[in-house]
Amino acid sequence: MDERDLKLLRRQCRRRKNELIIKCIISLLLLIVIALVVVLVKDVLIPELSGRNKRKPQTLAEEILAARSGQNQSGQGSGLSEEDMITVADYMVSQYDYDRAIAYLTAAESYTSSQALQNAVAGYRTEKESCVAYPLDQVTHVFFHTMIKDTSKAFDGDEDEGGYNQVMTTMSEFAGIMESMYAKGYVMVSLHDMCTVNSDGTVSRGEIMLPPGKIPFVLSQDDVSYYHYMDDDGFAQKLILDENGDVKNTYVEDDGSISVGDYDMVPWIDTFVDEHPDFSYRGHKGIIALTGYEGVLGYRTDEVYRTKEASRVTKYQQKFFDAHPDFDEAAWQKEVDQARAVAEAMKADGWEFASHTWGHISPTDAGYDKVVQDTERWLNNVASIVGNTDVIIFAFGADIGDWQPYTDDNEYFTYLKGQGFNIFCNVDSSQYWVQFGDRFMRQGRRNLDGYRMYYNPDMVADLFDVSSVWDSARPTPVPEM
Ligand SMILES: [Zn+2]
Repeated sequence: MDERDLKLLRRQCRRRKNELIIKCIISLLLLIVIALVVVLVKDVLIPELSGRNKRKPQTLAEEILAARSGQNQSGQGSGLSEEDMITVADYMVSQYDYDRAIAYLTAAESYTSSQALQNAVAGYRTEKESCVAYPLDQVTHVFFHTMIKDTSKAFDGDEDEGGYNQVMTTMSEFAGIMESMYAKGYVMVSLHDMCTVNSDGTVSRGEIMLPPGKIPFVLSQDDVSYYHYMDDDGFAQKLILDENGDVKNTYVEDDGSISVGDYDMVPWIDTFVDEHPDFSYRGHKGIIALTGYEGVLGYRTDEVYRTKEASRVTKYQQKFFDAHPDFDEAAWQKEVDQARAVAEAMKADGWEFASHTWGHISPTDAGYDKVVQDTERWLNNVASIVGNTDVIIFAFGADIGDWQPYTDDNEYFTYLKGQGFNIFCNVDSSQYWVQFGDRFMRQGRRNLDGYRMYYNPDMVADLFDVSSVWDSARPTPVPEM
């Protein structure tokens, strides 16, 4: 072999080596494509076609999520191990739902042969037997308005400061109040745990079964509209669904950027119940009382934002239109769709809604005809978004009668009952005030706000110690009413 032959051989060798590498790369690419196709067909297309993949909980987390929203009735076919099924049932029991936990485990295929499942059920039965029915006429009901997120903006000396100081609560105060109530054994219940509405329109007493030492309470929040006048005053902007489908608040920062977080009651309670499931009775949370005139949950959903009818546009709404000249019918529809999605997610997660009257009116001051017009507006503009409700939480703490039971010659009661309302709430400073009638339940509510905390700390001592939750950013004295 001479020099030239050697060179030729080397070149051939190199060429063959290169061909081999190219072949290798092509085969590898082919393999990747085949693998991708297999994955696509197996995991995406086939289950999609059979329609089963989405509904079947795949993981423990999903199963617990389903338990929370009341979807899973049994452990059958969930594909979970016995240990995991017990974890799910334990979660139900942590929210005092013994019957559901027992039904969940006893429906499992392996129940009759599994000692572990049977032991768990026996334990739940013992715990259930120790529960006592709480006296319904001693259930307290506390309420708030939207929370102050940034005290330096709410208490900045402008014309709204006094009102905020009287009737609002700061986020840190709210957190302190809830943590104190949780530590004392309070458990959130629904007004619909307290009573049952029968198909003939009569209302009977409900039943709340809790372990000894636990105390049920109703939580409500009024005016969750994020009204225009609150812009730039340190309140959340709206309630939204984040990328995980969780309900959160947005907040407009000084530089115009938008932060997402737990800046008001709803997301704060959601996060707290995630960490402390036993704060919620069977997954039930608070009740949100909504007006309609400036929309709901921070969305400008009222018909006036669509029609822009001059005779009905307020100065705040005119300011909004001036700032958003592009707010057209499509923009309005988008607000409606988003508000609906948030309301749906809230209901699936244990929240309820109530009427606070469309125009924040006191019924007997407004008069019968105004109440009829107002109720129609509420049904058309608010119930159309959050769904129907049978609860009305009167604005201004007003009512349609005195402390004596409503009678059928009360035209306001007869009308509202005819529109589907069965539960009526006012404001009452006593620890509890519950009244059952043949066709209604009434409950008084306690305001836990700046005014109450400043002037009557003793009146909330059963719930929390004012001195340990008071926000020092709050100016004193709180203005008198
Ligand atoms: Zn109100």
